Amino acid sequence: MIPGFFTGIWHAAIDLFYPPRCVLCEKTLTGEEKHICGECYHSLPLIKGPRCPKCSRPIRTRNGEDQLCGICRIQPNRKIKITVAASEYQGLMKRLIHLYKYERQQFLADLFARIIAEQTAKTGIAENIDLLVPIPLHWTRKRWRGFNQAREICRGISPLINIPVIPESAFRRVRKTTPQVQLNVASRTSNIHNAFSVRKAKYIKDKNIALVDDVYTTGATSEECARMLLHAGAKSVSLLIIAR
Ligand SMILES: [Zn+2]
Ligand SMILES: [Zn+2]
Repeated sequence: MIPGFFTGIWHAAIDLFYPPRCVLCEKTLTGEEKHICGECYHSLPLIKGPRCPKCSRPIRTRNGEDQLCGICRIQPNRKIKITVAASEYQGLMKRLIHLYKYERQQFLADLFARIIAEQTAKTGIAENIDLLVPIPLHWTRKRWRGFNQAREICRGISPLINIPVIPESAFRRVRKTTPQVQLNVASRTSNIHNAFSVRKAKYIKDKNIALVDDVYTTGATSEECARMLLHAGAKSVSLLIIAR
């Protein structure tokens, strides 16, 4: 007998007694649903209308087309070229990200990767990206969480859009910083200054890079990463995130 046969039976038996349930509403999932049910998926606050191309803020425009938001217009020197946020950071998406980051539901990286890949396909940005770069975590933080949430999402996105992920050793967080959520907007830029270091510039030189992260608030962290990557010779730096 092939071992795969037993594994298959074993999984079928587990599903029979412990059917997979939606992580948000606990409803039993059907064959096609994974991690969350269709109803919860449709209730996610995904960004569908016009948005600011630079920071992905949802905006209202008369013609329904994307255009720079007021904030990006007065800050023309920001390093990030394009931001694609899949969702707004509220409601069920906020709950889902909390489960992922703080309640050890690491398998949700799969779901986030699919959602981000769908959004990048819609915006057509993937054709202009050569390399995925997760925002690095300091090793003490990674040990505390057990994984780097951004790297796990990159691992899921990579085969879906056929873009490689940078090796962990090439771009690192070298300084332990206070988590940005604990600081006011003014202190965030100085807190994160020089926290990252490019260790292997050959991966970065002349590449169009997409940074990947979970949540975007002021953008200070991604701006600092972009500054380092451009300094190391990157051609452009964009940002893919689950929510903002
Ligand atoms: Zn559900
Ligand atoms: Zn903007």
